[in-house]
Amino acid sequence: MIKTDEILQKDQKLWDLFSAREEYDTGTRDPYDRFPFSASSNRNICKPLVSKYLIEHGFTPEYPDNRSFAVCLTHDIDGLYTSFSLKTEYALRNLMKGSLSGFTHYLKKSPLCNFKDIMSLEEKYGATSSFYFMAEEAGEQDYAYRVDDLEPVLKEIVDRGCEVGLHGGHTSYLDPEEMTRKKKHLEKVLGRNIVGYRNHYLRFRVPDTWEYLRNAGFLYDTTFGYPDQVGFRNGMCHPFRPFNRTTGKPVDILEIPLTFMVSTFDGYMKINPSKAWEMTKYLIDTVQQYHGVATVLWHNNDVIGNHRKFYEKLLNYCAKKDAWLTSGQEIATWWNQKGF
Ligand SMILES: [Zn+2]
Repeated sequence: MIKTDEILQKDQKLWDLFSAREEYDTGTRDPYDRFPFSASSNRNICKPLVSKYLIEHGFTPEYPDNRSFAVCLTHDIDGLYTSFSLKTEYALRNLMKGSLSGFTHYLKKSPLCNFKDIMSLEEKYGATSSFYFMAEEAGEQDYAYRVDDLEPVLKEIVDRGCEVGLHGGHTSYLDPEEMTRKKKHLEKVLGRNIVGYRNHYLRFRVPDTWEYLRNAGFLYDTTFGYPDQVGFRNGMCHPFRPFNRTTGKPVDILEIPLTFMVSTFDGYMKINPSKAWEMTKYLIDTVQQYHGVATVLWHNNDVIGNHRKFYEKLLNYCAKKDAWLTSGQEIATWWNQKGF
């Protein structure tokens, strides 16, 4: 096993990028208290410079069955039900975009209870994935469902080889007590341990959130990416143990950094579908080149209409490249067993 921190510390610039030094130095935050890409000095966001350096200096990650790279498939479950007016609005929006399948889907049923459809789609490509559920109480911001009502759904997800993880609420990223309470709540409903985490709205504070997650007993996190930009936030396209610059010590948790969420392309970057697909292929090809892990986020309400087609195209593209298409839990377990 090679010591990646020691290798990186020999190159000050890369070490600063890896350890997210700029996020300690600047007080710039967006209205959701997130460090925005616009405040970053990293203008090579789509190049995993730190991972490249590690590979060039002897880092040799491996994957099951000699596959050359992995894709971590994830879904944040922000909502389950839609009101009649919202359903109509979604249906019309799909119709205006020219998606007849999206239009009829929304008219026919509650569009967000689509877990079976998501899993069946993934199974066609030999894939499994992670579903991150919220455990909010009535009255909390963005409370949209009672997770206690979902016991059969959660159990089916796990029975089909997928993962149930925690989607922390708006304030969980800075509140260790809340984080632990929600983890226990979800564990009680599921009847087993929860090891994976992503915070709602990708709210995250370097390095505190990592410390809280470690203390709460999580194995890994996948929040670390930008909502407003696709790419590699700290130059890494591999899972890594974060380094806390305040304590001067690594944090014993695995970060599986987020590469992109599909809604970033149209919602934030305002790029058209063909450009989004070109960029997706570029990111996947880059991760394959460095034998890394590409983490993608499709909310359950994104596996519908044109975004569902985009998702299937991605699964197909990655399956043809013989990627390991799997959940965060599988990747974290493998990474820890191998001691990378
Ligand atoms: Zn969310």
